[in-house]
Amino acid sequence: MLVDYHVHTHFCGHARGSIEDLVLSAIQKGFSHLGIADHMPLTYTDDRALSMSPEELPFYVEQVLEMKEKYAGEISIRLGIEADYEPHTIDKIEKMIDSHPFDYVLGSVHFVDGWIFDDPRQMDKYERINLEEFYLRYYRILKEMAETGLYDILSHPDLPKKFGYRPNRDFGDAYREVLGSALENDMCYELNTSGLRWPASEIYPENSFIGIASELGIPVTLGSDAHCPEDIGSGFERAESLLREYGYCKIATFEKRRMNLVSLDS
Ligand SMILES: [Zn+2]
Ligand SMILES: [Zn+2]
Repeated sequence: MLVDYHVHTHFCGHARGSIEDLVLSAIQKGFSHLGIADHMPLTYTDDRALSMSPEELPFYVEQVLEMKEKYAGEISIRLGIEADYEPHTIDKIEKMIDSHPFDYVLGSVHFVDGWIFDDPRQMDKYERINLEEFYLRYYRILKEMAETGLYDILSHPDLPKKFGYRPNRDFGDAYREVLGSALENDMCYELNTSGLRWPASEIYPENSFIGIASELGIPVTLGSDAHCPEDIGSGFERAESLLREYGYCKIATFEKRRMNLVSLDS
């Protein structure tokens, strides 16, 4: 069962490849499921290098649905979206999510107290902050995101490690808090392999998070966070062996916002 639920398109302004290019690459790599999940228009910045504009969103939806139909005999395509959580604009976010027939919504936090902390252009700030406080604040916001009930998947749950800045501390308590809220809101989390392609050199989330999630019975899905057709499924062998190591034999897929668990061996 090969599933990649986190793939970006040229719509977002920092990825390469038409939706058709992505679909063809996934078919060629032997995927049975492909979830296209580009960045939803951001509500906290107009920077067009970070997401599509609100006017483009209907075209994105239309094109994914078109490809879903065109390639239905070869691959199951799902219409996803990566929606940021930003507490002050939550009504706008909810409205955008509800206006389109998404199969699933990846919930992401990229923005904490005015800082887009995963943007390489803003990376220097890591040198000036208290890392431990920042990580704890991030996990509090991630928990808040889960509590809104608007999202299906906790995306790249320990994203702050992207550039390799990590406090020397165990975050087990914070993980339990976040995962408890995910469980209450019927969410799964994503094993995201893009961390392997950044200085973090590690899958998101780290092993101790996966261990706690597995112990709590929280389902998992897989995403490459590809920003070009070649990166679809990159690092998945490692991800799959990690899942088996932690006792996962099923993976979450979605249709019309309903989760479906399928065997890794099917
Ligand atoms: Zn992106
Ligand atoms: Zn993201």
